[in-house]
Amino acid sequence: MTDTVSGVDIFTVDFEDWYHGIELAPADWSRFESRIEVGTCRLLDLLHEADTRATFFILGVAAESSPDLVREIARRGHEIATHGYAHEFVYQLGAEGFRADLQRSLEVLAALVSVPVVGHRAPYFSITRESPWAYDVLLECGIRYDSSVFPVHNYRYGIPDAPRFVHEIRPGLLELPPSTWRVAGRNVPVAGGAYFRLFPYTLTRLGLRRAHVEQQPAVFYVHPWELDPDHPRLPLPRRVALTHYHNLAATQGRLRKLLAEFDFGPANAVLATNRATSGKAV
Ligand SMILES: [Zn+2]
Repeated sequence: MTDTVSGVDIFTVDFEDWYHGIELAPADWSRFESRIEVGTCRLLDLLHEADTRATFFILGVAAESSPDLVREIARRGHEIATHGYAHEFVYQLGAEGFRADLQRSLEVLAALVSVPVVGHRAPYFSITRESPWAYDVLLECGIRYDSSVFPVHNYRYGIPDAPRFVHEIRPGLLELPPSTWRVAGRNVPVAGGAYFRLFPYTLTRLGLRRAHVEQQPAVFYVHPWELDPDHPRLPLPRRVALTHYHNLAATQGRLRKLLAEFDFGPANAVLATNRATSGKAV
């Protein structure tokens, strides 16, 4: 292992169990088998092999169930950031509800790690045009960068004409959009998640490299359950099932390739390096 933490591009993980992001009633969560350790350990091994540090956006309820795993992620030098507490759509919570959820998640993390949490990603990338108040709440809670605005059109999220690269969305708050590839006047999501499994690997690689042409970091994301193809299969609405279960067996091999081909680092370190070298807020 080297002491080099910063990379050129940004690798992020949305740390949650397989059932948190598929719109099941939270009251049902306790019925399901927790598998978060399986995928997270595979992911930590891959990151270790590639000598890569990442940002883990930790869901509060998952941290409460697996505190030792969160401590282990931090011990390995990864950045701990927040994914909120209960995996709710920000635009449905309203400002007060969002503040309460975010503060609760920060309290859970503060009990586990000593470094202040400065990064946030909303569940379902759910900061949209319906929730501009979310930026003020983030600033009030000490968040310094957010990675929730996906500049695409999706049935659950997205601001299709939002800026595609890192920008200051409020004084003191950077927005870090997941990567897109501009093709024929539209933004194609190439940042990871289901897109990493639905599209051929080559498309992801080319798409992420486009960020370098614009002298910007690429921003990639993955979930632990995407490295655990054996997690339980539920009968889900077709649209949800297609993105959740498609091609899970490919994730691990593709990630190994991606980690070998790109120089990734955690968001806080990459942003700090870019700020230092460019002399501006990235
Ligand atoms: Zn999530």
